[in-house]
Amino acid sequence: MSNVTEVLRANLTAVTRRIHAACIRSGRPVDSVRLVAVTKMANVVWIRELVALGQTDLAENRPQQLLDRAAQLEGSIVWHQIGTLQRNKIRKVLPVADWIHSVDSLALLSDIDRIAGELNLRPNLLLQVNVSGEASKQGFEPELLFEQSDRLTAFAHVSIRGLMTMAPLVDDPESVRHVFRALREFRDRLVERSHRRLELDELSMGMSGDYEVAIEEGATMVRIGSAIFEGVN
Ligand SMILES: *Cc1c(COP(=O)(O)O)cnc(C)c1O
Repeated sequence: MSNVTEVLRANLTAVTRRIHAACIRSGRPVDSVRLVAVTKMANVVWIRELVALGQTDLAENRPQQLLDRAAQLEGSIVWHQIGTLQRNKIRKVLPVADWIHSVDSLALLSDIDRIAGELNLRPNLLLQVNVSGEASKQGFEPELLFEQSDRLTAFAHVSIRGLMTMAPLVDDPESVRHVFRALREFRDRLVERSHRRLELDELSMGMSGDYEVAIEEGATMVRIGSAIFEGVN
């Protein structure tokens, strides 16, 4: 067994324990959080080992890299597109990615819906919301999305499953707790406004530095890269 396997196994075990502990602290079932491994910094050999260890939810930031990796890896992998999806990449990405976390405009949503219809697919989508208000971050501006949310129920070929956000990178995760809480509260307002026609059960929030706080605030998916691959070489 290689060093790669041993380090990955130890990292995966440590992350999983911390996810479970955060669930228990917040009175949630330990299986209420899906660990999505972000593989953008990993090579294919490492990813193959990770899949062999049972980690089958994988995410890529760049659509082209997702397509390249998906073509090289076998097994029942669930792929998540988590970074900007250019409109000219939709047709290639939809047959491969089960989840798209980075839907950041109604124009993109509308294109995804149309192409999903043509391909006879029904992708799982998350709307990326810029709750922190950082100018550098992608995503819907919350109040604009709220005003236009009637339009979200008009798309027939997609499942809008929830919301995604990225918190500012900070040293102390407590200092971004309010961002995660704001996403959850915003989700609750959207669901209420839609008279529950929108469900939005999923909240994709939390990365290596802040996932425990995100879980305490209701994350159902955490996107973790460096904590899984650290020390692997
Ligand atoms: C890279 C990336 C992550 C994972 O970041 P880590 O800090 O390495 O865990 C999560 N989400 C998105 C959108 C990313 O691009």
